Amino acid sequence: MIKPRLLTPGPTPVPEDVLLEMAQPVFYHRSGRFRELLARVTQDLQYIFQTRHTVLTLTSSGTGGMEAALASSLCPGAKVICLIAGRWGERWRNIALALGAEVVSLTVPYGEPVAPAQLEDALRAHPDTVAVCATLCETATGVKNDIEAYGSITARTSALLMVDAISSLGAMPCLTDEWGVDVCVTGSQKGLMLPPGLAFVSVSEKGWRVIDANKASRAFYFDLRKYRDNLTTNDAPFTPALTLIRALARSLAMLRSTGIETLWAKYAGLARMSRAGIMAMNLELFAKVPSEAMTVAAVPSGIDGNALVSNLEKWHGIKLAGGQDSLKGKIVRLAHMGYIDAFDILAALSALELTLAKMGHALEPGAGVAAAQRELYRVSLDNASSST
Ligand SMILES: *Cc1c(COP(=O)(O)O)cnc(C)c1O
Repeated sequence: MIKPRLLTPGPTPVPEDVLLEMAQPVFYHRSGRFRELLARVTQDLQYIFQTRHTVLTLTSSGTGGMEAALASSLCPGAKVICLIAGRWGERWRNIALALGAEVVSLTVPYGEPVAPAQLEDALRAHPDTVAVCATLCETATGVKNDIEAYGSITARTSALLMVDAISSLGAMPCLTDEWGVDVCVTGSQKGLMLPPGLAFVSVSEKGWRVIDANKASRAFYFDLRKYRDNLTTNDAPFTPALTLIRALARSLAMLRSTGIETLWAKYAGLARMSRAGIMAMNLELFAKVPSEAMTVAAVPSGIDGNALVSNLEKWHGIKLAGGQDSLKGKIVRLAHMGYIDAFDILAALSALELTLAKMGHALEPGAGVAAAQRELYRVSLDNASSST
């Protein structure tokens, strides 16, 4: 019998209290009880998003939120700039193309972020751009993009900044209003400690001006105006996934009582532990600018990355993610977002070390775990001194 531990960058583990919430009886959604629930989660979402704008709750996976953002804002032929540092930047482009948009792609090699100067040049060359689509944490590579810098550039233009913060919200700073993010999207199954099934979208005033002026939107279910208009009475336009929304109320209460700055500090500490552990195992970090929500290591030459990921699970119950597409077999991805703590990270690093050693990678036994533990020691001393 092996104890399973889920450390993939989505889905992430769900706390027991949140799971139990979903075992409660289903109730009717056209009711004061549901309106009270939706009002509460919307407020808590505004806190997690760091926005004073309303946050809309959709029944879909994260991609549905991205599609809703573009489908509500664009008419066919509209111009979109996509910042592409990996698979999720490519997802923005593929949605825009499906909606008949004209896409300008700014693509960088995997492992690198998109430089703000590239965006500045592209916006100068394409002043008729309706939306700029970016990714905060590019989950394919573990790279963090500089959304704050993009926001200061788009703020001087008529283009909207749309950010996929699906693997970052709650796990690393995302200052939606302060950074000038017009549309911010997340999903339930990453930093928010829930199963998959909900998407959340915030829209700025500039964003609503573009959406309200769009007379040729192709959206029906994903028409964000419907969600906004219904939310004035705390209703949902379609039958909401109220079982998940109940669970959401629970997880948001947990996150909110911890406090967003404390959460960011916690995951930044887990990132430091993970990076120290990885490097002490003679592995290299894959991301040039690593996100605080996950750590990605390059698989050393001579080791089969697919076998590494499957052996980790088979031998030790540790589920990490491998690479996708052209990175298949070349990287391993460890998440530190949501309901994951320092002891999960130590367990994952320990298993990684044991598995790598057995597969023939040269390392000093215990070095990775010791390096991570030293970081944990530092983090907890910092916390002790700041709380006195
Ligand atoms: C997980 C993830 C998504 C969403 O995927 P869904 O499967 O549609 O929930 C989108 N973008 C990023 C960056 C992600 O990490």
